[in-house]
Amino acid sequence: MKKKSKFFQAMCSLSAMCLTLLVSSPLALLAFSDFKSSVPVAAQTINQGELLTDVKYTSPGMAVDAYYMNENADNQPITAKPVYDVFTVEERQAKGLVLENPEVRPYYGEKVVYLTFDDGPEPENTPVILDILKSHGIKATFFVVGNQAEKHPEILRRIYQEGHAIGNHSYNHVYRDLYQSANTYVSQLRHTDEIVKKIIGVRPRISRAPGGSAGSFTKEYWESLKKLGYIEVGWNISSGDASSAKASRIMNNIATQMDNKNLWSHATVLMHDGCGHAETVKALPDIIKFYKDRQFEFRVINLETPSPW
Ligand SMILES: [Zn+2]
Repeated sequence: MKKKSKFFQAMCSLSAMCLTLLVSSPLALLAFSDFKSSVPVAAQTINQGELLTDVKYTSPGMAVDAYYMNENADNQPITAKPVYDVFTVEERQAKGLVLENPEVRPYYGEKVVYLTFDDGPEPENTPVILDILKSHGIKATFFVVGNQAEKHPEILRRIYQEGHAIGNHSYNHVYRDLYQSANTYVSQLRHTDEIVKKIIGVRPRISRAPGGSAGSFTKEYWESLKKLGYIEVGWNISSGDASSAKASRIMNNIATQMDNKNLWSHATVLMHDGCGHAETVKALPDIIKFYKDRQFEFRVINLETPSPW
């Protein structure tokens, strides 16, 4: 009997200790899935460097190691990180904040590759792509469609949390809606921004026109994008994965275009993670190996990424 009560006493104090540790540990916060944006995010988890410490700053929810635009126009982007905005265009306008992007010197390395995936998030392909990227310790850029993000918010959250860059790829990807005018185009970008911000607490600053800007954009489109602070991102290596090509063909397409050594400083590879692109997923390990074997540096698209052409 005596032994038993001692045992119970020991168990009680052990439980109490565990409870105290759990409550006092910052990790305990993460153990609860409902980690709302109203919870102040510790400065070190944002990892902003020195630049954001002096300015009034709105912490995004679930902040990751990325560069966050804020009120300070002189706040220069930190290299090699995804870029996000804590404010939408509308919020910037209401607060009288600067909309345009700061002038940033483009980054030309000796061998740099930007892997980009359009049309997701999609439940069959995107998670597998994320697994492959993770297993190789590589970051990529995902140009997401608003109505896909609405359907698969958990995948969008995963892209963000795993340190990849997110770009805006319109709301519905329907050319006849999108390309009626610069206004209809921009209104789809803004709608997608709202959706993305609802899911991850911040919005992208980079965007990619469905089908590419060539042939669809007039001067007016470029002017609206510049004025509102969107950076249109094209590509210079097409994987050719849009035409039901097999994995070996996709790899071949990329390898052939890489013969052009002018692109080595900023090879921007267009791929798709949308529905029906299983062959892209199949080709991805070989594509990664191709660039790794040639000692390429894998980067995400941000304000420093040079224009592809
Ligand atoms: Zn697309």
